[in-house]
Amino acid sequence: MIKGTKLYSILKFKCPRCQEGDLFIVKNPYRLKYLDKMPHFCPECGEDLQKEVGFYYGAMMISHATTTVIAVIVHLIVFYFYGWEIAPNVFFLIVVILGLFPIIFRSSRAIWVNMFINYNPNAIKSKITHEKN
Ligand SMILES: [Zn+2]
Repeated sequence: MIKGTKLYSILKFKCPRCQEGDLFIVKNPYRLKYLDKMPHFCPECGEDLQKEVGFYYGAMMISHATTTVIAVIVHLIVFYFYGWEIAPNVFFLIVVILGLFPIIFRSSRAIWVNMFINYNPNAIKSKITHEKN
């Protein structure tokens, strides 16, 4: 995968500015206790990853769209085997959506933050420092 692209940052859950620092404190998305734990500032380049209060609310729109696409795909596959039977549809939807939830959640946040911050190859050299008052 080519470093410097948005796709790299999104798929590897890396800071969109330097693409070195991790977007999430714990890498494994299935450790649900830490699912939404992100550093306030990128540990490598100092980029502000929490632009404002409620910044990641917008990621819910991406999550919603992704979940809808996945639900349609699951339904089409189940429809091929079971037709309009409701029970298998509901069962497979719940299993797939719940199973993928941590990945959808995190990739939605990664896509969202990538919409606002661009890659800068010199980001680490020009690290932003945050003084505590
Ligand atoms: Zn960074």
